[in-house]
Amino acid sequence: MVKNYGLLIDGKWVENKKTLNVLNPFNQKKIASVSIASVAQIKNAIQNSQYAFKKWSRISVKDRSQILKNLFRIVKENKKSLSETITMESGKPISESMVEVDYGASFIEWAAEQSLGSYGKIFESPELDKKMFYIKKPVGVVAAITPWNFPLAMVTRKVAAAIAAGCSVILKPSELTPLTALKFGELSIESGIPSGVFNIINGDAQLIGKLLTESSIVKKITFTGSTKVGKLLMKNSSSTVKNISLELGGNAPFIVFDDANLDEALEGFIAAKFRNAGQTCISANRLFVNEKVFEKFQSMLVNRFKQLRVGNGFDDVDVGPLISNEALEKVESHIKDAAKKGAKLVFGGKRSDAGELFFEPTLVGNVNKQMQIFKKENFGPIIPLVKFKSEKDLIELVNDTEYGLAAYFYTKKTSRIWEIVENLEYGMFGVNSGKISTYLNPFGGLKESGIGREGSLQCLEPFLETKFISWRVND
Ligand code: NAP
Repeated sequence: MVKNYGLLIDGKWVENKKTLNVLNPFNQKKIASVSIASVAQIKNAIQNSQYAFKKWSRISVKDRSQILKNLFRIVKENKKSLSETITMESGKPISESMVEVDYGASFIEWAAEQSLGSYGKIFESPELDKKMFYIKKPVGVVAAITPWNFPLAMVTRKVAAAIAAGCSVILKPSELTPLTALKFGELSIESGIPSGVFNIINGDAQLIGKLLTESSIVKKITFTGSTKVGKLLMKNSSSTVKNISLELGGNAPFIVFDDANLDEALEGFIAAKFRNAGQTCISANRLFVNEKVFEKFQSMLVNRFKQLRVGNGFDDVDVGPLISNEALEKVESHIKDAAKKGAKLVFGGKRSDAGELFFEPTLVGNVNKQMQIFKKENFGPIIPLVKFKSEKDLIELVNDTEYGLAAYFYTKKTSRIWEIVENLEYGMFGVNSGKISTYLNPFGGLKESGIGREGSLQCLEPFLETKFISWRVND
């Protein structure tokens, strides 16, 4: 018998008969079921979050910080079981899941520390009879909607910062990976977070999204996911003029200049491309290589692709399955579209025999910018390879996308580094590195990759309001 997980509302677990199934993407076997929230339960969660906010926002930052430090410790203590749950429901290799737990936990510790340093400002007033200053206050009830690809880290990056700021949170995780979030919910109770401060609801995403965006109690929507859903939430939030943060899709370029250390560039690329089988918002999505090193780098890529181990995330592998049949079909359709428009397969190109939802690591050459594989987020283990000559043409081509999240480039020429960072329209850069994610990173993108930043020194800012006070001293 698989377990049925409930909803976390006002500190209590509520189970419903109506459930959704959670599958292991490795073999499509059912691993659990999760209660689907009714309209009344969603409204109840919103109402209770409001009561909880009133109390939580008045607790001292020192106490809030201490509770979050407890949560950080408990998450680290549960690293093994959390990692296993992540691999079970997302399919990613267990070594990556373990890194995700440390990464996810780092946001909790960081938010706990930053809450102690949250402050307003006092100004030298231009009017002598006045004192002028501003203070920071929590925005109120926060609705957080998260994707499946980092079932813990995308949750903690939002939830810890919101709670540290003094907000209460209603989380809606992805229906594909709700178990990690629910286990995190259990740990949150153990840490001493009071009832109603952190709630988790699952179920019909459209319905939940509608009720959360239309509620005047919910003051903030923080969303990580696709640009399509982000735009919808932004539109629906307009009726109540909600504060909104969006972490959306990407189309990351990975550039190898002729003076790059090619061995390092290769390993940086493999990390940036194949983490979570290419299913991350900052995955390398287009590979640009200078013509002078193109042939050499292409053959290095082919040799390296041959070594990648594809299989069950619980085995010693580099590349796991895709999350769903839709994801697999999307990857396949990009390959077909590219072939129709003249692309040539350099390596891979079809479903892998490792299991139903697996696709071979794939390198596609002779690519042009009309192809889906070049224009759209592939979200899979496939990569278009583009030869470039001049830096000017390269910059135009790299910027020719509606996305602007992450970009990577390898070069030894220091004078070029600043030039590229200035000219590329992206929010985050990996320079001679295929890894950019840490709690210090102001994580977010330009253009249609989103609005706002998460993590970093400003991690509490999206969950705070500014109140300005102009005070005439009259006694
Ligand atoms: P998604 O389909 O947009 O789903 C994200 C979340 O939104 C899920 O919880 C989903 O619920 C929910 N959702 C779907 N339709 C909704 C609606 N009408 N109203 C309210 N919520 C709705 O994205 P995904 O496939 O899970 O994640 C992949 C995407 O996330 C990629 O585009 C990736 O680039 C992006 N991403 C961005 C970042 C970043 O920091 N910029 C980080 C990670 C991922 P259900 O799953 O229950 O349908």
